[in-house]
Parts: sequence; structure tokens; C-alpha cells
Amino acid sequence: MKYYSLGGKAPEVSFKEAVINGLAPDKGLYFPETITPLPQDYWNNIENLEDQEIAFRAFLPFVEGSLSREELKRILIKVLDFPFPLIDLDKNTAILELFHGPTLAFKDVGARFMANCMGVFSKNNEEEVTVLVATSGDTGGAVANGFLGVPGVRVVILYPSGKVSDIQERQLTTLGKNIHALEVNGTFDDCQAMVKKAFLDTEITGKRKLTSANSINVARWLPQMFYYLLAFKSLKKRNMPLVFSVPSGNFGNICAGMVAHKLGMPVKQFIAATNSNNTVPTYLETQRYEPKKSVSTISNAMDVGDPSNFVRIDTLFENKFQLLKDSLSSYSYTDTETKNAIKEVNSKFNYIMDPHGAVGYLGLKKYQRDHPNTLGVFLETAHPVKFLQVVEETLKISIPLPSGIEELLLQKKTSKRINDYSELKAYLLED
Ligand SMILES: *Cc1c(COP(=O)(O)O)cnc(C)c1O
Repeated sequence: MKYYSLGGKAPEVSFKEAVINGLAPDKGLYFPETITPLPQDYWNNIENLEDQEIAFRAFLPFVEGSLSREELKRILIKVLDFPFPLIDLDKNTAILELFHGPTLAFKDVGARFMANCMGVFSKNNEEEVTVLVATSGDTGGAVANGFLGVPGVRVVILYPSGKVSDIQERQLTTLGKNIHALEVNGTFDDCQAMVKKAFLDTEITGKRKLTSANSINVARWLPQMFYYLLAFKSLKKRNMPLVFSVPSGNFGNICAGMVAHKLGMPVKQFIAATNSNNTVPTYLETQRYEPKKSVSTISNAMDVGDPSNFVRIDTLFENKFQLLKDSLSSYSYTDTETKNAIKEVNSKFNYIMDPHGAVGYLGLKKYQRDHPNTLGVFLETAHPVKFLQVVEETLKISIPLPSGIEELLLQKKTSKRINDYSELKAYLLED
């Protein structure tokens, strides 16, 4: 498989090169040259296939030429070693829980997949690769965990001081080895701006091979299609029109689901549920795409004003607005509405949602008011303990900590404080 740049001014590359580069030289996102539907017998028999096999057959075309069949199989065994349970709320509503991985948020699958690819690709490389990433919370932990101990890879994570939860901060500052945390006196936008500047700084890129581990990287983005395929495996027998509601920030997760749809998976509608950062819902209403500055919300992993992956979604729908609108609905919710949803679902169903999942729930319920005979799945993208304070205050209960978290909270954090770009640059150029 070849990948081309959506910037339109860079050469086509292999999967391996796309992963190592992160972004194309023209600053465009990489996109697969072709997405060919899987054979009908795959969809006819999906309920009889092992999870590993489902993922393997869907993904092989995307890595062909860069990973052998055996390498892909070995990577998938390591990546898919925890469950993705579906919980029924009622006959029209199911929750797809994606938080059973090591850092309790859905980013574990993509981060581990990318880390394992880098492990394979760096085997014969002399040059060390630096993975540079800014996080508003969840990316940092998943990347730290996924890349820990991967030879030939140094990871540098920037996070905004005082703006991530205690659990999130420990997950990225306590591992040591090849994982380095920089605590930035500033906001997430400041972290992100510094990372972008570093990628454009030839004094750095002349000396260090830099790559990104955000969902712009194809190895982080595409494996997220597995969630949808595995959910479909379980839900197919119900024989109802399927709707996925995805709490969305950078729109990587939902875009991967749309790739699964392109591969032939029957989906009636995708719903992109957002918090107050409503660039996409506004676009679907007005047909004007106007990026905004991000605003802070209680679902902080979705505080994105200019979603990086939206250009990939547009490409999937051939840049045709009407085609896009036929497949995608998008709704935005305030923090108050989100908290009320957490309360409602807890009292009605005795289920505890995190703020991101709650936004997904609200989007699904809105769509289903007009489409009652659908089977709606909303993605629960993080464990509620990751947002302990908000959830406990909203529900006035205390949530038991899952195993491993108590130990994590006792570990000593190690990070380096930086104030500005010059300090990041000096750090990256140090030997
Ligand atoms: C990253 C994240 C999201 C948003 O995912 P995108 O792929 O960026 O749209 C939603 N929920 C949680 C908990 C996250 O960590």
C-alpha cells in the first residue's frame, strides 16, 4: 500500500515511511492510496472469526510491503490483549467500552500499535527516532506506556502544568527509561504550538529524526478501525440498522470507523458528538468550516478547535458535502448537559459514564429521537476514574479505583519544567 499526502505536494511513500515521517514533507496528512472493500465472505462469516483474524485480514492491505504477515500477526497479539466489552443499556442502546487497556482510555490500541511498528522499523536503523508529542491528558499516558522500552526510540511528551488530572500526570511521568516528560508552564495550545515549531525547525530536524504520535500518524489512526469491526462481529446477529456515536476531538477515532465502513461494514449513520468545541457541528449546518480557538471543558481530551483528521473525513467522502451529510451527523453539548447525562444514566441504568462517553450518549439519543428503530452504539472512550473529580462531584458518590491505579498514585513523578520554545529546543539538541 502506498500513502499520499493530502497536501498534494509530496511524494507517495510506503506505510513504513508514513509512520516514521508522521506528517508528509509538505505538512499534509498521509492517506491510503486505495481502500478496497473486503471480500463478501469476510462480512458473511465475521461472527465465526477470531478477533485477531478479523483485525489481521482488515489491516494486511494497509501495511503490505512494510510488515510481513508474521510481523503483523505478532504485533496484533501484543496490541489486542484486552477486551472491548459491549454493554446493553436497553434494546436500542449499547455501550462499547474502550477503556480496558493499560492507561484506561481508548488511545492504548493506536499507541501500542504504532510503538510496535516503530520497534520493527527501527531494528536495522542506526539513527535514533524521537517521538515528540503534546498531550492534553490521555495521549501522553498511552504513548508513554506503549513506547516504554522500545529500542531506538526516545519519547518526549509535553503537557500543560496543572491542567491534567493526577492519574494522567502519573501515567506519563513515572515510567523513566526512554520516556521523558516536559511540564510546560502554559496551556495545551502552547504545548501543541511548541511541538509544531520543532517539526519545522531545521536546526533540530537536521540533527534529530522527529516523528509524531498523535492521530495524524497513520499507525495511531488506522488501527482504531478494530473497535468497529469487533463491535459489528457481536451486533450483526441483531439485524438492525447500526449507528455509532463517537465522542470526537481530533476526529481520528470516528474517521477510522468510517474506513471500516468503506471496507464494507454496514453502518446506517455516524454521529460525531462534541463538547462546546463545535467546529464540525457548525460546519454541517452552515457548510462553512471555520476553525476556532479551543475552549476548556470537562471532557478535556476533546478540547480541539481545528480537528486535524477532518481533512481525512472529507477525503473519504470525495470532498462532497452532501455525501458527507448523508453519513455523518454532528451535535455539540455543554458541560451542564454532559453532567446531567451522567446523572440520568446513573439513575436510570446504574451505569457510570465518564464525561466523554456522556457526550457520545447525548449525540446518540438526539439522533435516535428521529430514528427510533436503530441499534445505537456509543463509545465509552475513558474509564470514569480518569476524570474522578468531575464524576464524583456530579454523582456525589466515590468510585472505587481499579487495580493498579492505587499503586500508580504512589509512584514518584519525574519531569522537567520548561517555560518556552528555546528551552524545548535546547533539550532536544542535548546529547
Ligand atoms: C482522545 C480522546 C477522545 C477524542 O478522540 P479523537 O480521535 O481525537 O476524536 C475522546 N475521548 C477520550 C477519552 C480521549 O482520550
